Amino acid sequence: MNFLEERILKDGIVKDGNVLKVDSFLNHQMDIALFNEIGKEFKKRFKGNKINKILTIEASGIGIACIVAQHFDVPVVFAKKAKSINLEGEMYVAEVESFTHNCKNQVIVAQKFLGEKDHVLIIDDFLANGCALQGLIQIVQSAKATVEGIGIAVEKGFQPGGRIIRNLGIQLESLAIVERMDSTTGEIEFRVQEG
Ligand code: 5GP
Repeated sequence: MNFLEERILKDGIVKDGNVLKVDSFLNHQMDIALFNEIGKEFKKRFKGNKINKILTIEASGIGIACIVAQHFDVPVVFAKKAKSINLEGEMYVAEVESFTHNCKNQVIVAQKFLGEKDHVLIIDDFLANGCALQGLIQIVQSAKATVEGIGIAVEKGFQPGGRIIRNLGIQLESLAIVERMDSTTGEIEFRVQEG
């Protein structure tokens, strides 16, 4: 079991509706030493990839992305969410359905921060149905930039996002993949990963 799986077992709480609450260390209160370990691990897993930018989505991806970026020594761009936007200037826009909030958002990135020369590592805290990631991939494609890989802290392997993204042929690295969880017993089971 790796450091993140251990922490999820210790402090994660399984809620009804397939929601894993990790707000004591990941996406409300943030354990920066843990984020640093996450950064180190992604740096190892994407060692051979030429990465010059990290892309994430507000809000909960930003903290992790910033610490990961220190390990790659590259800037972070975060896609902004907007319910309805008056487009000003040149923007890339994608539509994203939110798993946790059950609504649709547009996500936007200013064109000046992403272009065809960029080799992008996408970082996010969770992968569930894959809508957030598909929106970010669409934005990278609109910019004619390259997705070098995707780093996720927690993937819920029983939801379809991971399969959808891997089928696109993108290198997707999830540090913890929850195979099964039960809100009545609180049990959490992880997928056994190689390495
Ligand atoms: P997706 O677009 O893959 O369905 O959902 C990804 C987003 O939903 C993540 O960025 C995360 O903010 C949120 N999310 C999805 N599932 C969970 C969950 O079980 N727990 C928490 N805390 N956030 C989740």
